[in-house]
Parts: sequence; structure tokens; C-alpha cells
Amino acid sequence: MYRTHHCGELRLSDIGKLSTLSGWVQRTRQLGGMTFVDIRDRYGITQAVFNMNTDAALCEQANKLGREFVIQITGTVQERSSKNTKIATGDIELISTQLVVLNASKVPPFTIEEDTDGGDDIRMRYRYLDLRRPPVQRNIIMRHQMAQEARHYLCQQQFLEIETPFLIKSTPEGARDFVVPSRMNVGQFYALPQSPQTFKQLLMVSGYDRYFQIVRCFRDEDLRADRQPEFTQIDCEMAFVEREDVLQTFEGLLKHIFQYVKHYDLGDVTRMSYNDAMRLYGNDKPDIRFAMTFVELNDHAKGNGFKVFDEAELIVGICAKGCADYTRKQIDELTLWMQRPQIGAKGLVYVRYNTDGTLKSSVDKFYNSDDLAAWAKAMNAEPGDLLLVVSGDAAKARKQLSELRLEMGSRLGLRRSDEFRALWVLDFPLLEWDDDDQRWNACHHPFTRPKATAEGWEKTPPSDLKAEAYDLVLNGSEIAGGSIRIHERPLQEKMFDLLGLTKEEAEHKFGFLLGAFEYGAPPHGGIAFGFDRLCSILGGADSIRDFIAFPKNNSGRDTMIDAPAPIEEKQYKELGIKAN
Ligand code: ASP
Repeated sequence: MYRTHHCGELRLSDIGKLSTLSGWVQRTRQLGGMTFVDIRDRYGITQAVFNMNTDAALCEQANKLGREFVIQITGTVQERSSKNTKIATGDIELISTQLVVLNASKVPPFTIEEDTDGGDDIRMRYRYLDLRRPPVQRNIIMRHQMAQEARHYLCQQQFLEIETPFLIKSTPEGARDFVVPSRMNVGQFYALPQSPQTFKQLLMVSGYDRYFQIVRCFRDEDLRADRQPEFTQIDCEMAFVEREDVLQTFEGLLKHIFQYVKHYDLGDVTRMSYNDAMRLYGNDKPDIRFAMTFVELNDHAKGNGFKVFDEAELIVGICAKGCADYTRKQIDELTLWMQRPQIGAKGLVYVRYNTDGTLKSSVDKFYNSDDLAAWAKAMNAEPGDLLLVVSGDAAKARKQLSELRLEMGSRLGLRRSDEFRALWVLDFPLLEWDDDDQRWNACHHPFTRPKATAEGWEKTPPSDLKAEAYDLVLNGSEIAGGSIRIHERPLQEKMFDLLGLTKEEAEHKFGFLLGAFEYGAPPHGGIAFGFDRLCSILGGADSIRDFIAFPKNNSGRDTMIDAPAPIEEKQYKELGIKAN
């Protein structure tokens, strides 16, 4: 038997017991005639003691141990004279009588501690060592708990976990597909699914009216920071539902995960239209942990001869509470921050609402204190506040101010990682115009149902159409998105037509789905949660990589196994592909 207990288990109540532990050497210390060995496994750390006076040979054996050796120690549990309150086993120690080295270890390239001295690259190359570190283990364990609780909740709600294939047909829509050559059908390719979308809809046609899957998805996108080419979704679909059913079921799922994994009462999940989100936060995934909502100033700020504002489509500002004491230097720095190419603002107008009630702005040449007082009133500002205003093309100004709002929220400590606020964003536009390709694209995907309109959706201009789509937003991140679907062949054909697919293209790509819609497809809708992101937000971390056991780096590489990598000449031949 390798162990009687794990390394986080022994307590005062175990005193006198003979115990055997197996694990890794965290560290060894020699003090007088004693050697202390900290032995670690994923449950914790226990101190073992070796005494030169009682067993010199054993103690010398302990002195030879190196960091990360795998060992087995047997000994008697004893109360410690100097207790360690930082660890759960800190009241006891093991008086060792036997030591077995199960395997030696080279000196690890970085320390296996809470905070390591290893940089990103080296930790990724030796991910199996990084995974030994307690903070990473906590993340991986939390991810496991979240998956279990999701399963638990969904099973209670009668959802069935059903697997869908990974080798499917390429139907590039939003992102690029990863493709897999078929040896048995030379010249033909499978694609890895970007999501199980069409399969889960087919399952609804087949009568499995509640489906879920915690499933890997693959998208060959240009990698932005913190994106993974393969990622995990909690993918769900329901039949005989309206939007309201879906919203209630899945805010229930989110609340359940928060309650049972985080012991946190998420409270109400509020709702907001896409239009309001854009108008008030400049963003379709607003962080509502703090207010600082946008106020439009066109009515107050135009016509005073300030050309920048007079020519702007939109003048819009936020009120930063208590920031009137920002120095000129701080404001200049903020302005430069806004002018960086990533944000691209031309400038930043400010109004200091001083605590003595006076108003001082960067545009005093054009606006007197009455004018500025009117802005302050419109923005609900109080003495001591700082107003920050941008202008220009409406969409750009909103986007820029949205970045500034988040930055000010962070600076003011209003985006705490231990506070959670969720909301649904509803009534998204159905289509967006693609200037490059000169055609309409589906904002969500082509299977999303258009919202009914008074005159009928075919008579409504495409730009005015809304979708039966919804996003679940948590702390400013989109954590889930879905829609009520089209379930009728004629409507789905019209949608493909609107998206610029010819009849032949539609039949070639999605004939199986159109066909299925002719055999009794029920009304249905669904959603998918980005599981990696959800884990990182619950874990209070910024990067999803910390919650994936074996992630890829920012260039999409796995540096541990060194993939992607060339294949052998023979493989090219078998696949009927030419090496280049
Ligand atoms: N398949 C969609 C996605 O991956 C989610 C959904 O509509 O259920 O974003």
C-alpha cells in the first residue's frame, strides 16, 4: 500500500497513529540533528521529521533527498511543538521510521510553489510541472467542480448528455475551419466542428428535446490574446421553448454553479436591450458592476463654435466620481492613453467640477460656467467629479468611451474580481453589413430566428431586423450566447438567400438540415456557454489558460509536445497530399 493518508489529511485527532504518506518533496531543512521534510500531494503538505540521534542512517537518507523526489514516508503522528497555522496539517508532524525513494527527480526548472520564479514560456514547456503548483491545481479542481455542477443541474432539468461527431463537413461561416484529410477518400477532407450547432438542432428534430454536451470546439482564427484554437463549451438545446424558457433555464444554471462552486448568491440577472447597452455603455457586453453610464451631450454642447463638437455625430461623456482632483499630468496621460492606436480617439475633453462648485474645462474658450453647469447637471455630476467627454462618429465615439469607462472603473477599484453581476443582452440586430464582401452577414449565425415585425420581416429593411438572440454577460464578458432557431424549411431558405447563398450553395452546405426541417422539426432554441472563460471569471483570473490543463500559447502552439509539427513523407503519400 503506497499510502494510508494523503498529505493534507492528518490532524491532532490522529496523534499516535502509524501513517504512510506518498508524495513529492517540497523542501528539506536540517536543523541541529534533525531533518525536516515537507511532503506534498494535491491535498496538501505534511511535515515529516528525521532524527539523527534515533536513526542516523535514515536521517542521512533524508538529507540526500532533492526537490520533487517522489517518496514514501512512514511514521507516527505527533503534535508539533511549534505549530504552523498557515497549513491545515500544521498542528502535527510525522516522526519518520521509514523512507522509500519511489523515484528521483532532476532539479525542476522553476520552483513548484504558490508563486513561482518561472516565466510563461518555461512553465508552458514544462506544463506537467506547472500543474503541480497549488494555484494551478485549485483552478483545475474548480473547473472539475463546475463541470460536475453543470451536469448535475442539467440532469435535474431532464437534459440528456449526447455526443456529436468531431469529424464533420466543412461549412465555413464565421471562423475558418480546421480540416482533416481523409486517407480513405483521397482529396476529401473532414472539418473539426466550430460548434455542434447543426447536430444539436437535428437532435431536436429527433425528439431529444433537452440536450447538452460539455464539448470541445475548434476555430482556426487569427489568435488574439487569450483565445485558444480549441476551447470548451457547455452546449445546450431545447425544443418547445420560447425565449423566456431558455433565459430562465440558463440563468438557473449560472446561479446553480455560483451557489455550489463559489458559495455566492448571484442575485437577479438583469436584462437590457442591445440598443440600451450600446447607448448607455457603448458596448454589447457591459460591465454592470459599476454605473458610470454614458450621457449624450449633443443638445448641450453644439453651437458654441467648438468645431470638433459642432461637426461630431455624437458628443458623449461619463462622470468619474471624485476625480476632480486629477492633476493636469494625470489627465494628459489619460488623453494619450485614449489616443493610442488601439483606441484611436482624437482627443479627450474634460470638465473638473471642483469641490468649491467652480467648473474648469479644457474647452473654456467656447463654454462659460453656465454651459458647463448644464453638462454637469445632465450628467448628474456633483462637486468633486470629473467629466470626460469624447466626440465624433457615433459608433467610434461609443467604442472609445467604453474603453475609457472600463479603465476608469479599474482605476477607481469598481471592478472587483470577487463581485459578480450578470445580465442578459437581448434584441440583437439580425444582420450586419459586410463592406468588404458587399453582403449581409448573420450577427449570430444563419439559424437564428428573426424577431417578428409588424409588417412582416420580409417587408422590413434588413438593417432594422432584430434577432431572437440573447447573450449572457458576466462582469463585462460574454459568457454565453444563443438564440431561438428557424425550424421551417421555407424560412431557413429565405434566410440563406438573404445572406447571399445561392440555392445550390445552401443545398450543398446545409441540405441535410433543410431536409430534416421537412420531417416534423419542432420549434427550438438553445445556447452555448464559453466554459473556459466562465472558469476564469469565477476563479477571479484574467487568463483562460490558467484553467485549461494543457493550453496552447498565443501563437496557437503547444510548446510542451511541440505542435503543430511537420508530418512524415509517408503520411503525405497516404493522404494523397503534396508536401510543399
Ligand atoms: N452555436 C452557437 C455558438 O457557438 C451558440 C448557440 O447558438 O447555441 O456561438
